[in-house]
Amino acid sequence: MDIWAKVKGIAVVLGLLAAGPSGAQELSGLARLVPEASRIEASGAGVAVDLAISQPVPWRVRVMDQPPRLVMDFREVDWQGIGTLDKGGLAGLLAGTFRPGWSRLVAELPGPMAVVQAGMATEGVTRVTVRLEPVSAEAFAAKAAQPEPQEWALPKPADLPKAEPRHDGTLVVVLDPGHGGIDPGAERGPVKEADLVLTFARELKELMMRDGDTIVVLTREEDVFVPLETRISVARAAGADVFLSLHADAIAEGEAVGATVYTLSEEASDAAGKTLAERHDRADLLAGVDLTEQDDMVARVLMDMARTETEPRVARLAEALVAAIQGQELRMHRHPRQEAGFSVLKSPDIPSVLLELGFLSSERDLKRLQDKAWRAKMAAALREGLRGWAKDEAARAGLR
Ligand SMILES: [Zn+2]
Repeated sequence: MDIWAKVKGIAVVLGLLAAGPSGAQELSGLARLVPEASRIEASGAGVAVDLAISQPVPWRVRVMDQPPRLVMDFREVDWQGIGTLDKGGLAGLLAGTFRPGWSRLVAELPGPMAVVQAGMATEGVTRVTVRLEPVSAEAFAAKAAQPEPQEWALPKPADLPKAEPRHDGTLVVVLDPGHGGIDPGAERGPVKEADLVLTFARELKELMMRDGDTIVVLTREEDVFVPLETRISVARAAGADVFLSLHADAIAEGEAVGATVYTLSEEASDAAGKTLAERHDRADLLAGVDLTEQDDMVARVLMDMARTETEPRVARLAEALVAAIQGQELRMHRHPRQEAGFSVLKSPDIPSVLLELGFLSSERDLKRLQDKAWRAKMAAALREGLRGWAKDEAARAGLR
């Protein structure tokens, strides 16, 4: 069968949405998962997914490759409680907001499998059922490669044009709160990295905007998934002078404590940095973004040239931030300045750094991150570091 589930309810619900606000009101708020009535279980050699949600919504299902996974998109569903479900042999399960208005559920499959049955039926609750059966690697690849039908295409990751540089002395700072939506980042009990760094980004923005000569743009303003590539796009569109990605990841290896400034390098300075960069890429990939790069030789050479010019500026930026954070006597990692292959830092011409404000895996860092006074001190340090760096760079440019 077609990998796209064609469900009777879809046309009706879409009709309602198309009827405008008055029609849409007939949908009573957000659909939500009913975890106690949902299950995922092994069924023969395959997997049976049976989800109960509070009301019918437009949805679709498909498989994607590398790694093999089941991807289901729904018009806004609150997935609270999904973590309590048994995974029924699935390697992993992610659920959350994908784009505003769309929720995504991603299940990592134990091997190549095809959707042999998919449906949505409403009797009291709405049941979404999907059956998967093992298939050959070739058959799976063919199904995974099928393009998205136009009527279901989600908005593409923003490909925003680069803004012209400003010459009026305004400092344009793009703050990138890591993770979001389907990708919560590190989690510790009820605390999510995605929420902590968004809160911090908003506070830092508010502080820096008070200066009057600074414009601050956030790569996400709410709890939504933003592909890494789009984060770079946002920086380019804003005409960013500087890009600061904000994180508070968890590290299993050793006792990582304190703020750490990362700059881009093919070679990570340690195993933890390598793991972090890989984890960020993997979350991006699992959420369903195609990372296939255009292999354009000329573009790559130009990018390398731009990077060569940007590199010393990035090094000075990292040093300025470390000095400013130390100046405020805030806790830093014993190696405060590190390198790793973070994809989000790959803008060739915008100085970009990634700051781990602290690590959720550390009890002390967790406490600090939740302390408003600590965050205010950190925000003040970053403001000072960014402004000092920008002033220094302007002076250097003037000398050239
Ligand atoms: Zn992170």
